[in-house]
Amino acid sequence: MLLPLADAQAHVLDRVAPLAPQPLRVAAAMGCVLAQAVTSPEAVPPFANTAMDGYAVRAVDTTGASERAPVVLPVVAEVAAGHPADRALRPGEAMRIFTGAPMPDGADAVVMVERTERVDDGARVALQAEVVAGEAVRPAGDDLRVGDVVFEPSEVLTPGHLGVLAGIGITEVLAHPRPRVGVLSTGDELVEAGRPLAPGQIRDSNRATLLALVAQNGWQVVDLGLIPDDEAAITTALTDGAASCDAVLSSGGVSMGDIDLVKVVLDRIGDMRWMQIAIRPAKPFAFGVVGERSTPVFGLPGNPVSSMVSFELLARPALRKLAGHPVLHRPAVPAVAAEAFSRHPDGKVHYVRVRVERADDGSLDVRSAGGQGSHHLTAMARADALLPLPDGDGVAKGDAVRVLLLADV
Ligand code: AMP
Ligand code: MG
Repeated sequence: MLLPLADAQAHVLDRVAPLAPQPLRVAAAMGCVLAQAVTSPEAVPPFANTAMDGYAVRAVDTTGASERAPVVLPVVAEVAAGHPADRALRPGEAMRIFTGAPMPDGADAVVMVERTERVDDGARVALQAEVVAGEAVRPAGDDLRVGDVVFEPSEVLTPGHLGVLAGIGITEVLAHPRPRVGVLSTGDELVEAGRPLAPGQIRDSNRATLLALVAQNGWQVVDLGLIPDDEAAITTALTDGAASCDAVLSSGGVSMGDIDLVKVVLDRIGDMRWMQIAIRPAKPFAFGVVGERSTPVFGLPGNPVSSMVSFELLARPALRKLAGHPVLHRPAVPAVAAEAFSRHPDGKVHYVRVRVERADDGSLDVRSAGGQGSHHLTAMARADALLPLPDGDGVAKGDAVRVLLLADV
């Protein structure tokens, strides 16, 4: 009996918990998930400053000013960003001021430079517009006041977040650390790129892909190597991996008919469940916990496309949970089948590798990315999305569908 994908996902997600929060350096925490609320220890901006280049004045001194009848004031100082005025502005005076400069004491508004004219070589200024108090002034605390709640727990740290934290002087936050994810390949037939290929051998592509997927998600990669079909070697690799990593991805040796040592070893050292999931590709899948730390171990299928699809649908959501993410699954985005996708009923949901193109009206057009065999890694590499086709006869050209986007389109 095939297991519905949702049941397999629930089984896995029920058995992983977010990694304990740690103090992380903000500068190194891009993409990590906050585990604390952040309140601002500083006001932003810290002092009232001008939003424009112009002249700092007392608004009342500009009463009645216009292009025809400007108000002429003496210019008593120049104030630039980082260089506050060394005295207060007195009634009837103006100070030349540049964007970001602190408002001088006594000034309450700025006349933008476009509405002024220099007089006597800049010794005086003709103001051609009347301003009200506060005009072109950014008050202290306009963005954030001391004690404001800036961010909530579970927010993902984006470049903008890092900027805000830097902007309020915070260098460390409590956040979920990046999971350390170990990746290993198993199989006597496998050879590393860069080595000669003997008869009957194929190259190990899964490890390169899985290591890169882990890195792409912002997690720490641990290359646990290419392990031969040898019980002792597999035991060592999986035991060491489970001890040194927060999760382990292994590929190969999970198929139904396999007399595979990965199965033998994992059943001995871990608490595993071997599944046949109602999807194609990536039907065989194993999940369990290994070692003292109950490290999650994902037994991904060996076929290259299957291992990627299995990663996307089963491992990635669980690793995101480890990383503390509030959203685990990729969204199913509305799109249009730009060609027919036919299939036959077989009790499985087919995940078709597709290319996605944005049409002139903004809708997403979906076409096959190429060969749909579980060994056709090139089509998977070129795919922008997975198109789930529910059990049945497929969809016709022009049908509305939903896709799981893997790339920016
Ligand atoms: P298995 O799941 O070990 O029965 O492998 C299924 C298929 O995937 C076989 O054709 C294997 O040779 C192939 N395969 C297994 N591991 C890898 C790998 N790391 N890279 C490329 N192909 C693999
Ligand atoms: Mg194998």
